[in-house]
Amino acid sequence: MTDVPESHPRYISLRIRDVMTAGVERGITSAHGLIAHGRGEAFDYLIGERTQAFAKEAIRGAAAMLLLAKHAVISVNGNTAALVPHNLVDLGRILDAPLEVNIFHASAPREQAIQNHLLKNGAAEVLMPTKEAQLSHIDSNRKFVHPDGILNADVVFVPLEDGDRCEALRKMGKEVVTVDLNPMSRTAKYASVTIVDNVVRALPALIQEIQTLRNSAPAVLQEIVSGFCNESVLSAALEWIRREPEND
Ligand code: ATP
Ligand code: MG
Repeated sequence: MTDVPESHPRYISLRIRDVMTAGVERGITSAHGLIAHGRGEAFDYLIGERTQAFAKEAIRGAAAMLLLAKHAVISVNGNTAALVPHNLVDLGRILDAPLEVNIFHASAPREQAIQNHLLKNGAAEVLMPTKEAQLSHIDSNRKFVHPDGILNADVVFVPLEDGDRCEALRKMGKEVVTVDLNPMSRTAKYASVTIVDNVVRALPALIQEIQTLRNSAPAVLQEIVSGFCNESVLSAALEWIRREPEND
């Protein structure tokens, strides 16, 4: 770990970089994943490195949508596996939803390393992509899925998704819940619910919200989902990014 004093203003951000580079060293995260992380960092800087009101609103919508799902599946890539393995496992447990490995840059050893990492962190079962089950409307490696997982899901939780797969999942009639720091990305726009926040803050907050709402009547959850507007949340995030610095 880099020798950075806790008093350093970018301490948390630098610690997260350490986790990411360790992920690459362990064969979990791709080198491209580091670049994607850098894009996320820039947006995190702009939103103030905090879970803002627009993210809290989306977290509530996401929790209700996931609780109403008949078959929710949690899609895991190399970045989220490195950053939040415990949270992903906890989320799967409280939703009774399987984790499924799904990465953009094809690599069987990396898929295996992610699966092992999640199992070591307490996952009961981790589904792997198969050649038998494929998503329509998509050409990348991310089209290969598990027949009992993403292929059959009605709601897919997929933090740090790429835009074309998000669009493909929506075209297949699935609801997509994502976490993406960039409110302008195609993923953010195509998803049913976009949590514009860092996955390291959003996941614990989402788990907390699911615990708060888990005993609510389906009608109450349905009302939360019906009242949620992803476009409004994205506009609020953009407005916040464009704010005058003195309004912080
Ligand atoms: P799209 O294809 O949807 O337009 P993109 O090409 O910008 O998106 P990718 O490079 O495929 O996106 O993936 C990186 C995305 O993940 C970026 O939008 C980035 O902001 C986001 N991201 C990276 N790290 C994090 C993080 N820790 N938490 C939340 N979002 C993140
Ligand atoms: Mg992309």
